[in-house]
Amino acid sequence: MADKFEENFLRTFLLVMKFGTMVLQQQIVFELYQKWQTVLDFLKEKKHDILHLTLGKHNCCVSNCQTKRSSGLPKRLLSVMYQNVNRSCATRFAYHCSCYFTPKTDVSTWDITLTSRLLLEYFVKDPSLKQDIENLRAHRNCLCHPEKPGMDEKEFGKIWGEVSCTIKDIARKCEQWFSYYIEKEVDFLECNPISSTELDRTKDVWMKINKADGDELTELPNLISELISSLHKENTEMKNITWYAEYSLQSHCKKKDYTEPERAMKHSLKQLEEYKTICVVGNAGSGKTRFCLELMSQFQKKHPDLIALILTDSNEWRKLEFNQKTIIFIDDVIGRSNLDNDAFNSWRRVFDLMSCRLGSVYIIFALRNCIWQLKKHDLIEYSLFSLNDPVDLSGSEFAMTSEEKLKMLKTFCIKYGVKIDYPLPLEKVSRSTDSDVKRINFETLNTIANMELRKGFPYQCVMFFSRANYIREESNFFYKQCFYHEKEQVDDILRREKYLHYAVLIFFFLKGQCFTRDEILQSQPEISIIAENGHGRTPVQCRESYEKIKKLWVKRTCVKWSDDNFIHWY
Ligand SMILES: [Zn+2]
Ligand SMILES: [Zn+2]
Repeated sequence: MADKFEENFLRTFLLVMKFGTMVLQQQIVFELYQKWQTVLDFLKEKKHDILHLTLGKHNCCVSNCQTKRSSGLPKRLLSVMYQNVNRSCATRFAYHCSCYFTPKTDVSTWDITLTSRLLLEYFVKDPSLKQDIENLRAHRNCLCHPEKPGMDEKEFGKIWGEVSCTIKDIARKCEQWFSYYIEKEVDFLECNPISSTELDRTKDVWMKINKADGDELTELPNLISELISSLHKENTEMKNITWYAEYSLQSHCKKKDYTEPERAMKHSLKQLEEYKTICVVGNAGSGKTRFCLELMSQFQKKHPDLIALILTDSNEWRKLEFNQKTIIFIDDVIGRSNLDNDAFNSWRRVFDLMSCRLGSVYIIFALRNCIWQLKKHDLIEYSLFSLNDPVDLSGSEFAMTSEEKLKMLKTFCIKYGVKIDYPLPLEKVSRSTDSDVKRINFETLNTIANMELRKGFPYQCVMFFSRANYIREESNFFYKQCFYHEKEQVDDILRREKYLHYAVLIFFFLKGQCFTRDEILQSQPEISIIAENGHGRTPVQCRESYEKIKKLWVKRTCVKWSDDNFIHWY
């Protein structure tokens, strides 16, 4: 049994080795993500350079290679990143050759020594972040090397404070959600007792690292990933799911800019109460996610005993403990804009399990309209979906009314500091024409609120208020958005078929009106006639017609044409 002295030490050690390691791993993944790179890409690209990190002044196998790096990366770490590190193109270059390196991509086995070195070497430029990473590495080294594990209260308080702040600071540079998670976890570790099994396990890891002498420690990667994943595992996964929901609900409510479609909300609350499940559908941008979050939080207010959870993967269902009543929200069940058949199949296996749980579970599904249409027949085989029609946020029955749209516009005006000019009474009041203040006419708002829009209204509002020059365009902006929307849909079809694109464009302009995606799909026979006729054209003719169409487009819609999607076809 560990005494207080030893427990203090092991707790700090656990903090550094578990969460310190995690934030640095996450930082690497996040940096790569921002550069549109994967770990695999990175390791492939840098294998020669990384080899040099272990070579110092020595040469590699490449003749005339001028690369020289300050040494310091222990050789053993190469095998954490690559397979075949012992092979070489010639025996005399053994351990000086990266020719056969094949990347391993399991970042979860990378310890602080490795992640910090890679981050400082290849990714991080920000001096304060650099300092944080150095500090973390220094703490790690200090904690690994004392003779006996122990820490008095005063030292414990000081080091804990430093380390936990550093970890949280680094996490803040990653995604918001991750940072929220790390803060919760670190605070949890600070305030809750650790079981004696966990302490023993931590001590075991500490002793192995402490005894080993640098290069000898071949099992370190496994120890690290074990340490991260094994400790109170089930518990942690459940906590993650809960915290993610908490975080999403909190940030939804904090924004205070939500205008609910009242008819849909009333109906949904009632249906959820009666049938325990509800399926919410809508076009892109119709505000499904926020609607469902709002629905969840209102429902939770009526039933304070409910725990809210948001699932993003079908595997998560099996991790739930069901020891309490739960309300679950599953967003974009089977893919966001394109149908994800694998996701669909794995959820399908869970649907039956769900039906059995409906005694203590409420479930909200959200789907895009196009996906619902595609999978309707499969979905209504399950009672979860067949008992009621979905609530369609874009349909006439439940979409936002003009009053609600107006309310939403006003809310956005307040949020973005846009002044609304109301019609003046007859006696003239001079109106300030301060050009710094963004303003909009009440009449304009009214016009916008009454427009028929194809794309989701909430999304367009967000766009509209995001730039001053959009606001200056007034209702024209929304009008143009219709064209953009049609164009996006056409682009989407075009991107899939190389030649069809051209035919659809011509069709589109021959008709000279807006089409929905469905209408275009229905016009396929007509389009294929145009496509067949088009086959005889030379590239030059195509180019010419393309230019004509482009001009026509601009003339008709006043929307700037982007060549990005089109130019490479010719
Ligand atoms: Zn070299
Ligand atoms: Zn070589």
